[in-house]
Amino acid sequence: LLVNSERLRADLQTLGEIGWTPGVGLGRTTFSDAHLAARAWFLETARAAGLQTLIDSAANHSAVLPSGEPGARTLLLGSHLDSVAQGGRYDGALGVLCALEVLRSVKDAGLELPMTIEAIDFTDEEGTLVGTLGSWALTGALTPDTLAAPRGGREHLLAELDRMGLTEAGLLAAGRDPATLAGFVELHIEQGPVLERESVDLGIVTAIRGNASFDVTFTGEARHAGTTPMDLRRDAGLGAASLVLAVRHTVMREFPGCVANVGELHLRPGAYNVVPGQARMRLECRSLDDAELDRLADALAAQARSSAAEWDLEVEVAPVGRWTPVATDGEVRAALRRACEALGLSSMELPSGAGHDAQVLVSVTRSGMVFVPSHHGISHGPAEHTTWNDCVNGANVLLRATVDLARSL
Ligand SMILES: [Zn+2]
Repeated sequence: LLVNSERLRADLQTLGEIGWTPGVGLGRTTFSDAHLAARAWFLETARAAGLQTLIDSAANHSAVLPSGEPGARTLLLGSHLDSVAQGGRYDGALGVLCALEVLRSVKDAGLELPMTIEAIDFTDEEGTLVGTLGSWALTGALTPDTLAAPRGGREHLLAELDRMGLTEAGLLAAGRDPATLAGFVELHIEQGPVLERESVDLGIVTAIRGNASFDVTFTGEARHAGTTPMDLRRDAGLGAASLVLAVRHTVMREFPGCVANVGELHLRPGAYNVVPGQARMRLECRSLDDAELDRLADALAAQARSSAAEWDLEVEVAPVGRWTPVATDGEVRAALRRACEALGLSSMELPSGAGHDAQVLVSVTRSGMVFVPSHHGISHGPAEHTTWNDCVNGANVLLRATVDLARSL
């Protein structure tokens, strides 16, 4: 049993043109014209293949191949069709296309499975509005609090919901009864260099890193940079510089396997001739273990305080968000491994450093992920690429694992 690779290839080409600007990349941020066009194309393609379609009250879009068995549970497959502002053709999209191709291949083969299989395109994975909004909604774990201070701003969220004919009440009511779900399998590009470097065909994801993020603000005194002697300055930039280096040293010496990043740094007032009175930075750290994530976050906050003390500054460390690290499901991993073996493809287990819809679904159903290699590890940019051979391998593994899980879960 193999997928129809020519059909999948044609889909990948067609979808990859929707929102693509040469030299810039893919622009399919949530509810943009290109995003809506991609979603419409997805449902149309599903219907043309004789599949049922479904849009829930969180605007998750699905193609459905129902089981003939009454009361059958649903095995979910899929990912997301939205992208970052200047993204690539594969992130999320490949997972949705492979899921759709699995449904069509099962249907074409006339296989009667004891489970309904559903290819789902989750709303707003990338966070134009909230981040993994559709998957949160599907688990029923969204709360008014989650929507109170969303990533893209509250006003923007409300305006976009309104424009799309969606409501907060609808988002909060989109939860599915977990008893109707059997599992979720997400195929995704690795977005890192490991599989290519190791020359391994597929990655079976063991766990997804959690992260904690902070806004750190150092406050000193803005003074004339020509007249204030070096030893009398309270330079907020020095606190920030000291912390940037200390974050790296702390992780590398004390938290092997973890990562941390300072992704934004602003000095105020911001002039050649003024000693910075304020330095604001955005800091995040990631770990595969919940307790370790707390210890790492505490260590970095303590480091911020000692950097402040070292340079005679005040500091405020404000937590922004926290994602719990999660392990994927053992049955799903085993099915993916069996599929790789049966197809003669090499595989390795590896953690995911990036967050995904599967991270959210873990709380309600058996969830797992399979990675295909990312050329040079590049993602979230126009150079994002996965070889055609790797795409087909991934689709075939997803197909086989789906049939296996539909019969065994
Ligand atoms: Zn993605």
